[in-house]
Amino acid sequence: MGKGFFEVPIAVNDPIKGYAPGSPERKEVSETYTKMYNTTIDVPLYINGKNISTGNTATMSPPHDHQHILGTFHKAEKKHVELAIETALEARKKWSQMPWEQRAGIFLRAAELIAGPYRATINAATMLAQSKTIHQAEIDAACEFIDFLRYNVQYMTEIYAEQPESTSETWNRLEYRPLEGFVYAVTPFNFTAIAGNLPASAALMGNVVLWKPSDSQVFSAKVILDVFKEAGVPDGVINMVMGDPVMITDTVLASPDFSGIHFTGSTDVFKGLWQKIGTNIHTYKTYPRIVGETGGKDFIIAHKTSNPRQVATAIIRGSFEFQGQKCSAASRCYVPKSMWNEVKTILQEDIKSFKMGSPEDMSNYITAVIHEGSFDKLASFIDQAKADIDAEIIAGGNYDKSKGYFIEPTVILAKDPKYTTMCTELFGPVVTIYVYEDEAWEETLKLVDETSDYALTGAVFSEDRYALEVAVKLLENAAGNFYINDKPTGAVVGQQPFGGARASGTNDKAGSKLNLYRWVSPRMVKETFVTPTNYRYPFLG
Ligand code: NAD
Repeated sequence: MGKGFFEVPIAVNDPIKGYAPGSPERKEVSETYTKMYNTTIDVPLYINGKNISTGNTATMSPPHDHQHILGTFHKAEKKHVELAIETALEARKKWSQMPWEQRAGIFLRAAELIAGPYRATINAATMLAQSKTIHQAEIDAACEFIDFLRYNVQYMTEIYAEQPESTSETWNRLEYRPLEGFVYAVTPFNFTAIAGNLPASAALMGNVVLWKPSDSQVFSAKVILDVFKEAGVPDGVINMVMGDPVMITDTVLASPDFSGIHFTGSTDVFKGLWQKIGTNIHTYKTYPRIVGETGGKDFIIAHKTSNPRQVATAIIRGSFEFQGQKCSAASRCYVPKSMWNEVKTILQEDIKSFKMGSPEDMSNYITAVIHEGSFDKLASFIDQAKADIDAEIIAGGNYDKSKGYFIEPTVILAKDPKYTTMCTELFGPVVTIYVYEDEAWEETLKLVDETSDYALTGAVFSEDRYALEVAVKLLENAAGNFYINDKPTGAVVGQQPFGGARASGTNDKAGSKLNLYRWVSPRMVKETFVTPTNYRYPFLG
């Protein structure tokens, strides 16, 4: 900075490619998938620009084909985590002083690498590691990740441009310093874009980062790391460590230089992290920033005036895409009695038409859930629903883990609006429906608000503006992302900043300026041009 007020390219959302049969992008991603499937890779730790193999490894397999080995990754010991902290703090000396346009250049370059030469690789890796269909991989690993990088660069410049007023006598300047210390990024399995964005957004603002990806996502995390390296992220700025999450976290949180956590994952894990930070608070040089986007129990409520086909389609797409493993996935729905038969028939017909299997076969709409733990949990809730008198399974209900962790998309009809699957986050392709009396609109809205601890996403369907207005008001605190006549999934960076409150997180809105403010610590600089030389004010006479 200092030699021009540079303008960055205006951010635009990356267009979603179609992957229709016969298209060149489909051919390229299929070939890349086959090649990656038939090769094994070894993923070491990445600390200060060096690969570190510890010899203590775990294997990686596709959830839809769990006996097939994609490779191994190395697990850190305490000394590796300590080394990562030490070298990150060393790298901070230069990185925190790097002019913003150089940081912008690196991350804009990363966006273009993903949009072009790495697109097929990052999509195929996400199909293999997380069992996403090509469409789900494209909207996550390619488009959303590119959008995060481009928009964050633009938001960074908008933040830097926000300056206080000055007068002819004083010049007031706000400097957006990076946090003093290092940032710990802990990422979930379900979005490659989130895995990339949590370390990248903090690093973009001048911070150094220790990144711990989910064990179930290391295979695609390796591609993110390759992109960061090729884009020119300097050694020590983003370091990747895998292994025992408790040991890694305890080591990180014991450091006096820990200055912030950027977390996405489940609510209980985040609460545990917050508690540890609280316990260690006297250790830290600065109050750490705590940013966490966590679980959800997302709803769809239909008014009697809504269109049954629109409601059913929103339930199908919102609950079952990516096997319901989106934090925003609809998992409890409220349908008026007069509409239920029609909605039920459409749901049953649509579910019958689903094809389930490997994402390699692009005609499959549903693939496997992430791991055996998730499979077993979902199977036990399905079994319980089969046995319980207040629940009835009206579609799906089968599961099979012989080759992959396949759970049939399942619809449970609950007689009790507080039935366990109406309240608990299951994180799989299981949706529970409660049918309410048409006239009980307001009571049902109150029920929606009070049923779960979460407040992430929610959708209301209505053709009646008065009914809609009541819903908007009564559900004010029930969702951080609220949808009218649309499914509650699919937030787009730059259009719908994402995050929820209550047990769903700190609501710092990924994909917006609000999130980036958390990674800076402003310094106010006041410069006085003609400095007073006498303490006496006029009123003293
Ligand atoms: P998870 O909580 O199991 O894991 C998230 C990360 O935390 C992983 O890196 C994991 O290794 C680490 N971790 C696990 N236990 C830990 C511990 N005791 N100490 C420190 N770190 C620990 O979550 P997941 O299964 O990977 O992801 C699914 C969850 O994430 C769901 O609850 C979903 O709703 C949530 N999610 C929320 C959002 C959002 O924006 N609100 C987005 C995506 C996912």
